[in-house]
Amino acid sequence: MTRPIRATIDLNSLKANYLYAKQMSGYNAQALAVVKADAYGHGAIATAKALEEEADGFAVACIEEALQLRQANIKAPVVLLEGFFSAEELDAINHHDLQPLIHSNKQIEILRKHPPKTPFTVWLKLDTGMHRLGFSPDQFIARYSELTQLPYIKQVICTSHFACADEPDHPLNKKQLDCFSQTLKTLDNPPASLANSPAILAMPESHYQWLRPGIMLYGSSPFAHNHNQAAALKPVMTLTAELIAIKHLAAGETIGYGATYNVSKPLLMGVVSIGYGDGYPRYISEGTPVVINGIRCPIVGRVSMDMITVDLSSYPQARIGDSVELWGNQLSVNEVATYANTISYELLTKITQRVPRHYI
Ligand code: PLP
Repeated sequence: MTRPIRATIDLNSLKANYLYAKQMSGYNAQALAVVKADAYGHGAIATAKALEEEADGFAVACIEEALQLRQANIKAPVVLLEGFFSAEELDAINHHDLQPLIHSNKQIEILRKHPPKTPFTVWLKLDTGMHRLGFSPDQFIARYSELTQLPYIKQVICTSHFACADEPDHPLNKKQLDCFSQTLKTLDNPPASLANSPAILAMPESHYQWLRPGIMLYGSSPFAHNHNQAAALKPVMTLTAELIAIKHLAAGETIGYGATYNVSKPLLMGVVSIGYGDGYPRYISEGTPVVINGIRCPIVGRVSMDMITVDLSSYPQARIGDSVELWGNQLSVNEVATYANTISYELLTKITQRVPRHYI
């Protein structure tokens, strides 16, 4: 007996989305599958295992996430997108054949003081305008020359990250792209990586040798508005719960914590087994749809820790035990995100460990 809630993860759709990312480059570029934050909530190990045959490599944020993959016997290249913070970490990175990002002088100092035993590949970050991590173009050129002369550095892959790729017409995209390509030109065009999901789909000139698809692997469009190239993505996670109670409420009653919802006319209401304890956002607006047997029913009242309440007027045939889709094949996680005033990335990564992942 288990609580009626699950996240069903379709691994064939995941693989199709990965191959679609490579197809966008005409199969000319390799692709790091970004599986940080537990593969955006989909389960890092299961995701990486499913992609192991196809994937050219994986990207995670930090060493803990990388070691999880190595402990699961994943042998492919693994890139650490935040790099390392200490000599001990650098040792572990080297021991487990991982590839760190280098974005600061402090990291280079650690590297020089504690030369790794085995030659390894590093990813050097250029700040092209995101102004988060990375060296300015002048510093970058100097660091690149330094690093390529060190005997324990096998390869330096140049990288940067877009701030606004989800808005293809944003002027910062061109500025970042120009900065990246001009800096690389000075260095005789070494191997490079710039494109995240939106850039893979909308900016072919940003593809270079390594793509870094994240959200698109999970079948969610990275764009706020409809985009042709994103239409082919297949949703990977379908989040479902169940109707666990049905009530007839009279006009004048209220629903849930804070009695925020006032029943204005007799209402058939359903209780669904999901709440913010499962990662469904408490701050989502009333009226957000859920889907029961293909019919949309809006949320009424506040989201509780373990339950939500929905208006069943559009589907009076509903029965206890009916499956309720919160997002997935019938209702995109992007649409739900607009009701929560957030992005699909946040909704997916916030699904808690209490929700069993079921892989198909
Ligand atoms: N590259 C870097 C450096 C990132 O931080 C991320 C995600 O945040 C990605 C690639 C993947 O981005 P997306 O999920 O938009 O494809």
